[in-house]
Amino acid sequence: MKELCPFFLSVVCPVYNEEGLISIFLRELTDSLDILSLSIINKYEIILIDDGSTDNSFQIIQDIAILNPQIKCLSLSRNFGHQKAINCGLVYAQGDAVVMMDSDFQDHPQDLKKLLDKYLEGYDVVYAIRTKRKEDLRLRFMYFLYYRFLNLISYQEMPLDAGDFSIFSKKICRFIADSPESYKYIRGLRAWVGFKQTGILLERHSRYSGKSKYSLLKLILLASSGLCSFSLLPLRLASLLGLGLIALSSCFLLYTIFIKFFLGSTPIGYTSLIFLIVTVFGVNLLILGIIGEYIGRIYEEVKRRPQFIVSHSINIKVDEEKLC
Ligand code: UDP
Ligand code: MG
Repeated sequence: MKELCPFFLSVVCPVYNEEGLISIFLRELTDSLDILSLSIINKYEIILIDDGSTDNSFQIIQDIAILNPQIKCLSLSRNFGHQKAINCGLVYAQGDAVVMMDSDFQDHPQDLKKLLDKYLEGYDVVYAIRTKRKEDLRLRFMYFLYYRFLNLISYQEMPLDAGDFSIFSKKICRFIADSPESYKYIRGLRAWVGFKQTGILLERHSRYSGKSKYSLLKLILLASSGLCSFSLLPLRLASLLGLGLIALSSCFLLYTIFIKFFLGSTPIGYTSLIFLIVTVFGVNLLILGIIGEYIGRIYEEVKRRPQFIVSHSINIKVDEEKLC
């Protein structure tokens, strides 16, 4: 059992064009945290990262935060993306434990108590395992396949169906926030740091209003970030496929020699030749693409650009040194 007092909790929530729900979300979140303040925690802060919203999200947050100094907001200079927004929140989180959750009610404030109760049993990380996802069937199926595939090829065991919704200690938060890589796949890094981790089953609710900000392209980029950050198997695929193709063509060569000497005729096949050329060419391009993906990431890493830029802040002092 962890020490209860003093227990300062930080809740990190990225916000991108959520004007339709942010005020009600903040009301529910502060209500849940106020209830927890009566028993488990003695202080909390909510760190909202406005990820370059183009609607009124920031103004709404500003109006609410004036009345409540526990609500803090960092507004990024443009849309840097979900993972970088979370990372910014982790950099500034001050709590003894940190929660990261979405601000669209898919991770419900009322579930915080369950996470906290488990965390206080003595774990360093407690993550939500998504059950009963209330998203469209196609997306659910893709997520199902993706998590299993990632786990299969990753050198780091990844918990299945665990998203970002989780609570972890200050120590874990520092490891994730201070990790210098610029393509952070936060839930992967969280698994990678190790220590004592466990998951609890929590329902993934449907979005309260508005649409998911993840386009198919953004989802593919997030998935490839997970795959490339924690596996070298796609790169090794080149050698494996190459070996396979050499084995196959050797068999084909033996077969043609056999036919020529024992049956006296060589099969001449225009179609099969074209098929072979196109396939080998396609495989080559695919492998080149995979290699390009890794090289692109190396290029991004060596540029060492700041991972986010804070343009405005509310109830929190922006530290110039924490910008990257
Ligand atoms: N989000 C963000 N930046 C982005 C996209 C999303 O900060 O570029 C926030 C968004 O406001 C929400 C959370 O990240 O609080 C998850 O995004 P979303 O609900 O669109 O993704 P999904 O839940 O559909 O995967
Ligand atoms: Mg969502």
